[in-house]
Amino acid sequence: MRYAEVCVNSPVAQRQTFSYAIPLGLSINVGQAVRVPFGEKLLQGIVLELSDYPAVEETKEIAGIIEPRPILSPAHISLACWISQHYLSPLFDAVALMLPPGFERKALTFISIPPIPDDFDLSSLTQEQRHTLELVQGQGKVSLKELEKALGKKKAQTIVAQLVRQGLTIRSYELEPIRARTKVEPYLSLADDVVEAEQEVARLRRKGGNKQAALLDFLLQQSKPVPLAEARQRVNCDKAAADALVNKGLVTVQHIAVRRDPLSYQDITPSYPLTLTAAQELAFRSIRSSLEQMAEGYTSPAIFLLHGVAGSGKTEVYLQALAEAVRLGKRGIILVPEIALTPQTIERFASRFPNKVAVLHSKLSLGEQFDEWQRIRKGEVDVVIGARSAIFAPQPDLGLIVVDEEHEWTYKQHDKSPRYHARNVAIKLAEQTGAVVILGSATPDVETFYRAQREDYRLLQLPEKVTPSQNSPLPQVQVVDLRDELKAGNRSLFSRSLSQAITKAVTGREQVILFLNRRGAATFIQCRDCGFVLRCKRCEVTLTYHLAEDILACHQCNYRIPVPQSCPQCMSRRIKFLGVGTQKLEQETSHSFSQARLLRWDSDATKRKHSHQEILNKFRAHEADILIGTQMITKGLDLPQVTLVGVVNADTGLNLPDFRAGERTFQLLSQVAGRAGRGPLGGQAIIQTYSPEHYAVQAAAKHDYALFYDREINYRRQLHNPPFSQLASLVYTHTNDALCQREAERMKRLLIEDRDSKGIADLSLIGPAPAFIHRLRGRFRWQLILRGSDLSAFLSQIPIPQGWSVDIDPVGL
Ligand code: ADP
Ligand code: ZN
Ligand code: ZN
Repeated sequence: MRYAEVCVNSPVAQRQTFSYAIPLGLSINVGQAVRVPFGEKLLQGIVLELSDYPAVEETKEIAGIIEPRPILSPAHISLACWISQHYLSPLFDAVALMLPPGFERKALTFISIPPIPDDFDLSSLTQEQRHTLELVQGQGKVSLKELEKALGKKKAQTIVAQLVRQGLTIRSYELEPIRARTKVEPYLSLADDVVEAEQEVARLRRKGGNKQAALLDFLLQQSKPVPLAEARQRVNCDKAAADALVNKGLVTVQHIAVRRDPLSYQDITPSYPLTLTAAQELAFRSIRSSLEQMAEGYTSPAIFLLHGVAGSGKTEVYLQALAEAVRLGKRGIILVPEIALTPQTIERFASRFPNKVAVLHSKLSLGEQFDEWQRIRKGEVDVVIGARSAIFAPQPDLGLIVVDEEHEWTYKQHDKSPRYHARNVAIKLAEQTGAVVILGSATPDVETFYRAQREDYRLLQLPEKVTPSQNSPLPQVQVVDLRDELKAGNRSLFSRSLSQAITKAVTGREQVILFLNRRGAATFIQCRDCGFVLRCKRCEVTLTYHLAEDILACHQCNYRIPVPQSCPQCMSRRIKFLGVGTQKLEQETSHSFSQARLLRWDSDATKRKHSHQEILNKFRAHEADILIGTQMITKGLDLPQVTLVGVVNADTGLNLPDFRAGERTFQLLSQVAGRAGRGPLGGQAIIQTYSPEHYAVQAAAKHDYALFYDREINYRRQLHNPPFSQLASLVYTHTNDALCQREAERMKRLLIEDRDSKGIADLSLIGPAPAFIHRLRGRFRWQLILRGSDLSAFLSQIPIPQGWSVDIDPVGL
């Protein structure tokens, strides 16, 4: 007897596999999808391992194979196991990342009625029970979901349980219906007999001609099958005409698979490699020699950090490295932040590798995702380009992984399990497959740069723009102190400098971007006169304003104070100033610059699939003079007519209660500043702030990464923050705030006891405190932060009850 260790699609399974016997005659392989009995249900499972001995004495048998060909490669299986261990996620959640789109199907519960004994006294039932029985009887079989809809969730479950106990109903389980499959369309073609078809056309024409004649005549001229829909459109006939011809045996219908192609709406013209600049050449050579070594079977992974300002030609290096990988018989995966998945970016890859690019991201329809996934698995593409989940694409012969804008937070899946970071997953995957990794950024993550400094990663630098504009290679950045504006009596959102610059640009028919960092804008209070912001005495982080209670609280240690009546620094009474939103900014802008045409770009304005592109196209076509937006406008846009970028208030980012606030602000300001001066007109950026002396603002204004990094890494070292430690956040969620706090405190005691009993010295706990977003959809959230090393191993030993979520290496606290 042989056995299989199966990862089962059930919330009960957690981080465990289960042993199943392999029935004789069934050929089971590692990576295969199977159906297995689990409790009363029949569930999906993936075979992770085969063995001669089961892990438990009693085993059930595998019920059947879902698909003969293994879905997961051995490298993907190791990767899934690593994700589950490191991020403490259920194993199936990790495996599910790698399954074909729409593959995952849960078991649905159905209720039906067995033969009821004649002597059963139905009058002993309650009215509700009888009503339920009638409902089921009427349809023979009803899904529990439907009953829940009819009766309410709790009630339906109780009544069904009661009826099952009395033997009056039985439960059965079925997998959800298939959600995605290959799309087939009817195609028409001529049956074998051409002469007969021609005669029929002639005959019909003699009788005055009709739709059938037109259709048949059309098909006579075709050399290959034509989609029914297209044929109908071309000769303007209905389906009946086609049916009639099929019935006469003159035309045949075939069902042919059609590909749903997400790139089909783009016209792509091929492009060719550029002659590299000296700096690009140097970077490219290092990468090429690693690719060659890897192709020869050299195994220690090569990870490059390609550090280059916006426009320094990083993408060209990716493209040529990819071409090199392809030349060596390998393929690649390119990750870009979701937000950068504009047609512009995709087009650069699609035009260099015509018909050899697959795209994967969440805005594609399920059908498109399904078809792209299948193409990738068949080895039809050289390059997969996509957002974070594209790292799990079944790309064979993986030779190169690029993580563009590696510092972006969107690479971390923070809102659901597994809470993985695609950059870290990419590095693990490279270890499994022997691929080369390029991490690219103008403003590398401090942790990444630290590793490059320690030579864990190899640092490649592109210090200059490829095509610097005449007078200045990088846009001029002016920092405006908002306190001076107030002293001068200017109370508008626009400083005098920004105001003048906007007017000048707009009258000169140039374009302006106004950037507002809205995230966290309403969460801290700031003195309107001196810019002072209250911080926690213990943690140094900004105190968060809680509107409901009108208090300020530290969301790390729960220190609380009432909102002061006047500013502790300048005594001004205008202390309670909350940030502005994009709508307010839009109003003030249209009021102050009434001659300018405005366009707003934020997440509210871009919910629909192509609306990003619509807004961009409008702006590029100069249908507006000023574009107002949030984070979104900072990424990957090439807008040559923009000569001015204004940052309305840089402090919102600085005052986020998070040790990464400085880093985040530096990144954003650098990117925003890089938006100006992309074209021949050059350009400038103006940053408005109450903290002009802050190193993040200073360094961004000078385009000086080293200046920023040196200060930041020192702070990290002093405060023992990553990369000098590891963090984990534990959040408990409940509708009752007090209960939430008690549970968080209980967990803290438990963690401390466990730590002390094991004698772990370098592990500290911060909190519990209300989470930064204390209340979400009617539920309260309390947070504990752990700081130490090897936290996954420590936490994996702790029983963590329902209601808790664990985030290892969180990107935002
Ligand atoms: P990054 O990815 O660093 O922002 P890009 O690769 O997008 O930089 O390059 C910026 C611009 O310079 C693009 O328009 C690109 O076509 C052009 N470019 C890049 N490399 C070269 C080169 N070697 N010769 C000429 N133009 C180049
Ligand atoms: Zn003040
Ligand atoms: Zn505190």
